[in-house]
This record gives sequence, structure tokens and C-alpha cells, in this order.
Amino acid sequence: MLAKSHRLVAASGAVLLGAPPLGIAAAALGATLPDRIERIGLPHRGISHWPWSWALVVWLMKAQGTEWGAVLAWWFAGALFHIGADLFTIMGIPLLVPNWRIRFGTLRTGSFGEFFVVALVVLVAAMHVLHLRVVRTGGL
Ligand SMILES: [Zn+2]
Repeated sequence: MLAKSHRLVAASGAVLLGAPPLGIAAAALGATLPDRIERIGLPHRGISHWPWSWALVVWLMKAQGTEWGAVLAWWFAGALFHIGADLFTIMGIPLLVPNWRIRFGTLRTGSFGEFFVVALVVLVAAMHVLHLRVVRTGGL
């Protein structure tokens, strides 16, 4: 996926998980971490895209119980949204072990499919913000 797609998906995901505005911004900024960290010489979509190490860091930051810990947790959560989006691309991600990639989709980077899925995720987040529901759940 393109960097801008990752930022939009991460920001939308943070919105859907109820992040405060600073958390949404942090998630959008952290959304390119898995690709940027590869510049130190890591293989593409290897250990940098293994979600469990990022999840541990998110948990460690959140466990600090401080406001800065929460902001950093959202920053690293941006990386998790990145990896979650890459899971639906043709190349996949190493979901279980760092050296074996699997995929749940066939999206190609920069394709109409990527644009469509990102647009859909942004639409769902916007509907959430505007309290719009396609299907009424509960209540009267
Ligand atoms: Zn990636």
C-alpha cells in the first residue's frame, strides 16, 4: 500500500477505536514505521512487518499509564494498522512467524482496489464520527 493509504487507514482505525485527536494524529504519523524501519537494512515485509513485536511495544507504552505513554501507544498502533492493511495485499505479512508470510487478500499497491478499500475505511470512520449507521443496532 502507498504511504498515504497507510496514513488514512491508521487515522480511520484510530477514530473507530475511539482515540482522542492527538492519538489519531499519532497513529497517522506512525503508519509508515514498518516500511521506514526497513531502511536500516531489514528485508521488505520481514521482521519489520511482524505484528507481535509492535503489539508488545503498544502494550508497554499503554501500560505506562501516562498521557505521553498513550500518545506513543497510538504512534506504534499506527504501525499495527499498517501491517493490518498489508495483510490484504498480494505480498502479505508474516502473521505467525517472522519469516513466513500469509495474506488475506489480493490488493496491489497503487491499484483501484487499494483506493476503493481505503475509501471504504475512511467512509466508515466518517460515518462513525457523524453517528450515522447503515443498520440500526439496538435502541428504539
Ligand atoms: Zn508495509
